[in-house]
Amino acid sequence: MNIRPTPDTRPATSTRPDAYFPGHGDDGYAVAAYDLELDYRVGPNRLAATARLSAAAAARLDRFALDLGPFRIGRVLVDGSPARFRHRRGKLTVTPARPLGPGAFTVEVRYTGNPSPVRSHWGGLGWEQLTDGSIVAGQPTGAPSWFPCNDRPGDKARYRIAVTAASAYTVVANGRLTGRRSSGANTTWVYEQDEPTATYLASVQIGRYRSLELDGPVPQHVHFPAALERRVLHDLGRQGQMIGVFSELFGPYPFGAYTVVVADDELEIPVEAQGMSIFGTNHVDGDRGEEPLVAHELAHQWFGNSLTVAHWRDIWLHEGFASYAEWLWSERSGGAPAAEHARRWHARLSGQSKDLVLADPGPRHLFDDYVYKRGALTLHALRCAAGDDVFFGILREWTAGHRHGSVTTEDFTALAARRSARPLDDLFSAWLHRRQLPPLP
Ligand SMILES: [Zn+2]
Repeated sequence: MNIRPTPDTRPATSTRPDAYFPGHGDDGYAVAAYDLELDYRVGPNRLAATARLSAAAAARLDRFALDLGPFRIGRVLVDGSPARFRHRRGKLTVTPARPLGPGAFTVEVRYTGNPSPVRSHWGGLGWEQLTDGSIVAGQPTGAPSWFPCNDRPGDKARYRIAVTAASAYTVVANGRLTGRRSSGANTTWVYEQDEPTATYLASVQIGRYRSLELDGPVPQHVHFPAALERRVLHDLGRQGQMIGVFSELFGPYPFGAYTVVVADDELEIPVEAQGMSIFGTNHVDGDRGEEPLVAHELAHQWFGNSLTVAHWRDIWLHEGFASYAEWLWSERSGGAPAAEHARRWHARLSGQSKDLVLADPGPRHLFDDYVYKRGALTLHALRCAAGDDVFFGILREWTAGHRHGSVTTEDFTALAARRSARPLDDLFSAWLHRRQLPPLP
């Protein structure tokens, strides 16, 4: 299935930088495309790179800011001409020779250095060295660890990522592999992602991997350490069926293919990227013990990657939906029905007092399991109130209407209210906007 790119017809206006991470992003412009040329040495963790951004200014711009970690900047060109810049505390502020905008402009940044994770409440984020390779785990603010970007989730763009590394390594990035050529001891891999992609979902994975393609409704590329082949193939053995079930429940799979990387190290949690998920060796036990995570990461392709929050406060639109997808997969694959998972989790959450509201949990609670599970329970409550036909109709209309776009909680509740025969105001205000956990319907 070949998905046509969404034409870039959006106006050059942009949302405000995110309230949860006010230091990230610039609302003065939006990026249409990133073209990244990376030369990476695995052993010394050394990156030499050129980034070319095609952007548009909403109004006149005297200067603008990119987010970029502590690299050495070689030069910055704006529309092909050298520009002045200042690089401090993760912000590369660029002052072009002449004011820009409104309208299109290009930026080219050359930079070198050792990519290092962005520090955060959740530990290091972004480009990270493995024992023998590297991964990117960008959510939510790790993208500047490896490329200059407008780091806010609402600014989605196309990507072309070309990576040169020693030929012993497999390089995986988002989208289609459109070129691979070797020269001397190195190989350059070129990937293109046409669908609009948030910065935190851009990804490069490097390791000594075996690569296979699995059968299913869409091509599934799998990259893993050769020693894990039996475990990986067993644990992902039902992923094709899962894509089929989710396509039926949520609408068509949003990308042309799906890639899974099993990195050759343990990872605390799996990571979603555009068209891709990354697991650690600890997530494949050869017994499908972590199949709920396989379902969860796959579901993010609809909820998080195709439909991306405009603001991080609406994280339940990603994590609540992906968590509910775990229960739906259980229900559809011979396990416990979603209602049983809901009962169990409702009992567990009832015992926790959390000082947060789901629709705005605060930056520190973004990835709190309470948010994930209360989000899933909210969807279950909606399903009970609306009935299965209406509920799954809402999900499919949701993914179709905002495909490859940006979304808010208000967009979702408005759609549900339009489709439901019963008023939903009380349900949504109890589950989304009040602290107390409502009773399970
Ligand atoms: Zn998730």
